[in-house]
Amino acid sequence: MNRETILIVEDEKDIAGLIAHHMEAAGFKVVVAHDGATAFKEMKNQPPDLILLDLMLPDMDGTEICKILKQKEATRNIPIIMVTAKSEEVDRIVGLELGADDYVVKPFSTRELSLRVKGILKRLKGVKEEQKVLKHGELVLDVDAHVVSIAGKRLDLTLTEFKLLKELLLNRDRVRSRETLLNNVWGYTFEGYNRTVDTHIQRLRHKLGSHGKMIATVRGIGYMIKEGTS
Ligand code: CA
Repeated sequence: MNRETILIVEDEKDIAGLIAHHMEAAGFKVVVAHDGATAFKEMKNQPPDLILLDLMLPDMDGTEICKILKQKEATRNIPIIMVTAKSEEVDRIVGLELGADDYVVKPFSTRELSLRVKGILKRLKGVKEEQKVLKHGELVLDVDAHVVSIAGKRLDLTLTEFKLLKELLLNRDRVRSRETLLNNVWGYTFEGYNRTVDTHIQRLRHKLGSHGKMIATVRGIGYMIKEGTS
């Protein structure tokens, strides 16, 4: 049987041990790293299926690790749950903007944590199976055929607009920051990027017509498509 691997990046050994114990009991294969450098080494040895990432590490900041992983093609699809001792809303938003898939605040229950882990992995499997054709209300995006239609009527989108829409649809209900969009759609970041993303979003909305409002602006962060909007 092929067990899914969870990489636990946590410098507090008691907490790391406790999480490891519960994840193993839940049927996962567990790898533990007590600092950032070891985490990267372990990821090279064996790419994990999910990463539990502590925010405060002795050699690196968890947010920094998250950012690096989400920028690399090879690692950007590995889900990350940020583990933080800080409960301030700002920290949470930062975590989400960095592309983390979820977060838990210490102290957390191990039961809750394993439910979150299982939830994300399950969701990811669903996305992988369905992602050839993405549907949102009357909108259909066919990944392989590179075709977008609304109520059967084909839209004329540029490659960038297509990729933007796909990225937002694949991450429904999650805010995508401008930086994340640049990384995942354009493949790099550059100065003055905000305007570039905004301009393309405006054009995309225009082409979607009355459905353009499905792309919501999240002030100060970026954009998102919410489930149930059209
Ligand atoms: Ca720590």
